[in-house]
Amino acid sequence: MEEFDYGVIGGGPAGYTVGMMLAKQGKKVILFEKDKLGGTCLNKGCIPTKSFLHSSDIYAELKKGAIYGICAESITLDFSKICDKKNQTIEKIRKSLELAVKNSGVYVVYAEACVKDKNTIIANNTEYKVNEIILATGSKPKTLKGLEFDGKFILSSDDILELTELPKSVLIIGSGAIGIEWARILSNFGVEVAVVEMAEHLIPLADIEVSKRIERIFKQKKIQYFLNDYVEKVEDNTVTLHSGTQLNPEKILVAVGRVPVCPECEAKSVLGDACGEIQLAHYAIHQAKAKALGIPFDKNLVPSVIYGEPEIAWVGIKEQDMDETYKKSVLPITALGKSWCDDATEGFIKIITKDDKIYGAHIISKEASSLIHILLTAIQNNISVSDLKKMCFAHPTYAEGIFDILSSL
Ligand SMILES: Cc1cc2nc3c(=O)[nH]c(=O)nc-3n(C[C@H](O)[C@H](O)[C@H](O)COP(=O)(O)OP(=O)(O)OC[C@H]3O[C@@H](n4cnc5c(N)ncnc54)[C@H](O)[C@@H]3O)c2cc1C
Repeated sequence: MEEFDYGVIGGGPAGYTVGMMLAKQGKKVILFEKDKLGGTCLNKGCIPTKSFLHSSDIYAELKKGAIYGICAESITLDFSKICDKKNQTIEKIRKSLELAVKNSGVYVVYAEACVKDKNTIIANNTEYKVNEIILATGSKPKTLKGLEFDGKFILSSDDILELTELPKSVLIIGSGAIGIEWARILSNFGVEVAVVEMAEHLIPLADIEVSKRIERIFKQKKIQYFLNDYVEKVEDNTVTLHSGTQLNPEKILVAVGRVPVCPECEAKSVLGDACGEIQLAHYAIHQAKAKALGIPFDKNLVPSVIYGEPEIAWVGIKEQDMDETYKKSVLPITALGKSWCDDATEGFIKIITKDDKIYGAHIISKEASSLIHILLTAIQNNISVSDLKKMCFAHPTYAEGIFDILSSL
């Protein structure tokens, strides 16, 4: 029987990254995937949502084209083509990924795998001998009692990707990354959106000023939201919240987090969402790199990005964690010439500093998902505020907002 150095279960970002990196070091790696390579990220998460997001942004921009002097008449929306584009994007990326995995020398078995003992994996009624087992089995949408997914009225983040037509209204339960992103996509498409959040503020994990600003933006965009509230009952498609509010959405999207899929077994390492730690693709990839290369990394320096309108991104210490020794500086996005050209003046860049060092950064802005990396680079490499200020930032950009804010310190 052929023996392998590593048996990886799960072909998502954690599994394929660790597999390819170990194979490149000359290790014999076998990877088991019960569905499709790319995992949640490529097939049901990051990528399909960003494809929908892009289509919805184009639609929303075109509708306000007249302010840029572009008058397109009778703009129509063909949702089936939007879905085709999403599927083509996934297929294209998956083909490249399959090729990359193959070229790296990882042996892939498409089957559900289970662990027999610490050196044996069973798949397709065959036993595979490995020196070490790595579990990268991911996660699945969390259900709520009384709101079990039926794929028709009560949807998971997987179900909503399979819709063949847009509903008129959607009630989103949960205002984390998935809920906020779908609020943007759906409202861009003209769907009536309402969000219910159990916590005191939207995006409970964010800096408090960020949460409050997003609430203000939701009000401006007429996206209804209910705080300190939750669904008490659903009867004949009527949703009653704890507060007594009654709603009649065409669909409900339950986006209250994900549960790790992590079978109890003798696997030596568990990576990615299966750990139940930070459930983000880049965390999974970074953890996989750390495992393969044996390098530690700081979990506090994992950036968070939420694809709202505008984007939200942060890293490091938050307002609510600050004591009086920290200093905060906030620059409104309206201060940036580029934002007026793009008609994207909403948001701010906030930096938390102490003794010439940056400890936290919180951004609501167009391009926030990229901007955050400038500040992450500074934090991770101990670049002082004084040194970062010496950098030449191009004009007109959103990045020069970082220069402006540092100059004010
Ligand atoms: C709607 C949505 C949007 C998201 N957007 C983002 C985003 O913008 N940015 C971001 O960073 N993250 C995002 N995420 C999170 C991201 O998708 C996950 O953090 C990431 O996919 C985790 O990677 P993983 O390899 O740990 O697990 P997964 O990607 O879930 O992969 C696990 C794989 O293991 C396979 N598997 C499980 N059990 C077995 C078994 N017994 N045998 C064989 N195979 C098995 C599964 O089929 C799956 O392919 C999003 C998630 C969702 C749901």
